[in-house]
Amino acid sequence: MRLAQILFSQGFGTRRECAGLIYSELVQVDGRVVDDPDADFPTDGLSFSVRGEPWRYFEKALVLLHKPAGYECSMKPKHHPSVLSLLPTPLRTRGVQPVGRLDEDTTGFLLLTDDGTLLHKLTSPKHHVPKVYEVTMKHPVDATQVQRLLDGVVLDDDPAPVRAAACEATGEHSLRLTLTEGKYHQVKRMGAAVSNRVEALHRSAMGGLTLDNLAPGKWRWVEADERVALG
Ligand code: URA
Repeated sequence: MRLAQILFSQGFGTRRECAGLIYSELVQVDGRVVDDPDADFPTDGLSFSVRGEPWRYFEKALVLLHKPAGYECSMKPKHHPSVLSLLPTPLRTRGVQPVGRLDEDTTGFLLLTDDGTLLHKLTSPKHHVPKVYEVTMKHPVDATQVQRLLDGVVLDDDPAPVRAAACEATGEHSLRLTLTEGKYHQVKRMGAAVSNRVEALHRSAMGGLTLDNLAPGKWRWVEADERVALG
């Protein structure tokens, strides 16, 4: 693919702006400046840099963000900045969107993509990829609460009970809860349904993918082989 087209497809601006970056010798491929917008490169696995920033070519972007508290997952945030403000401009230009939502005060594992098919698949109610939450409760957690969360609790908007796929106490006031669905405020409402109260919520994993050492506010590409872990 032509270098100008590569930059355009990866969100670096209009075709004219992308050609301008190349003419200005701001683009490197394999460590060498390329000043010809028509230079042709195979896109598979391509690494390049723009203004010294390293980039990878992906036909569709899928990134993992460690969401800090104080950011909204909405594209049109009302009270706090959007999680999109934590991503570099090219990803925003490409139109990446959060895969599902975390509350403003929830931290942790958040995927974003510009792949409409993948977004649809991962957010579909039919998709039951497990999501793991570390939950801090106001009141001590006892075995009865854990069992009720596993057996199923009824929330106010649906008579069908929702149950945790896995649940274990991890401390006097903390739980690890695995859900395979994603109803509105589900963890907080499940906590309230067992007469407790969620004070802090952190999502640590989805499918076989975890946050690992990704620091709060940081993002990374999700590699093609990791996508398999998302079901
Ligand atoms: N459940 C909640 O209550 N909030 C979240 O952010 C995610 C799951």
